Amino acid sequence: MFKTTIAGSLPKPAWLAEPEKLWAAWRSEGTELVQAKRDAAFVWIKEQEELGIDTVTDGEQFRSHFVHGFLESIEGIDWETKTTMGIRDNRYEVDVPTVTAPVRRTRPVHGDEVRFTRAHTNHAFKFTLPGPMTICDTIANGYYDTRADMAMAFAEVLNQEAKGLAALGVDVIQFDEPAFNVFMDDANEWGIDALERAADGLDCKTAVHICYGYGIEANIQWKGTLGEEWRQYERIFPAINASRIDQVSLECANSHVPMSVLSLLPDKELMVGVIDVATDALETPEDVLRVIEEAMQYADADRIMPCTNCGMAPLNRTLAEAKLDSLAKGAELARKRHG
Ligand SMILES: [Zn+2]
Repeated sequence: MFKTTIAGSLPKPAWLAEPEKLWAAWRSEGTELVQAKRDAAFVWIKEQEELGIDTVTDGEQFRSHFVHGFLESIEGIDWETKTTMGIRDNRYEVDVPTVTAPVRRTRPVHGDEVRFTRAHTNHAFKFTLPGPMTICDTIANGYYDTRADMAMAFAEVLNQEAKGLAALGVDVIQFDEPAFNVFMDDANEWGIDALERAADGLDCKTAVHICYGYGIEANIQWKGTLGEEWRQYERIFPAINASRIDQVSLECANSHVPMSVLSLLPDKELMVGVIDVATDALETPEDVLRVIEEAMQYADADRIMPCTNCGMAPLNRTLAEAKLDSLAKGAELARKRHG
């Protein structure tokens, strides 16, 4: 009961990349970089185990960007043709690569990373991939008729990759879809179909992570425009509950999301965000317990998995460790009181 996990990413150690910065450049290259990434993943796997996190991740130490890390080895993308695009409904502008031909996976993308992580933990192991709709909000379409068509093509490619990873012993494959609560109509029209295509036929657990983003300035400003109550989840959860995805990861700690949205997911396991990643303030185990108990008003305890709101990549490393500790200790308090 109250098995803990994290959304996915953890800070990069200073010897791997510049700390406390999103998408920071690597500090080495070639075989030295490969080894440095493995060392960083190893440290985080063992830290999570030691602190008592039940389902661990590689902390996303092998990739710089959560979408481009996957796309880098996919055919059909022109990395030279940059298009300036307003990401997440123009929350911020980025020069993105352009799809100029059918997208194809010509070789395994994350296989070596998964083999490494699997070899170093006996805990349940979750691996994260970008969701098809969020990929389409992070890359320009210069080939497909519609964004929905492009999403379905990426879903096919993701499915091939996910099946390969499941065969290597991953216990949970999570698709990150922060775009879902920005484009709620598109999510209902084709985003959730594309997600199900990506997760089709996997013989491990499947999950979707839907958040309000890292604690970066553009996201903080956007959250300021969302009003007192954030009701985006309400528009997409009914269709997600009807989908074949097993687990849903959502923000709850310190967010303006009404906890009652959990009642829209009666058939899912819930990764309840009990750790805020957009603040340097450290939650106590009692704070974590409080959010778990709020969630229990709307969901059976045996479906609740305490989790972080989102990835912790941009946080200070010591703070991230302390937050993991509070997450595990808060879940332990909940088990003592309600187990
Ligand atoms: Zn997130």
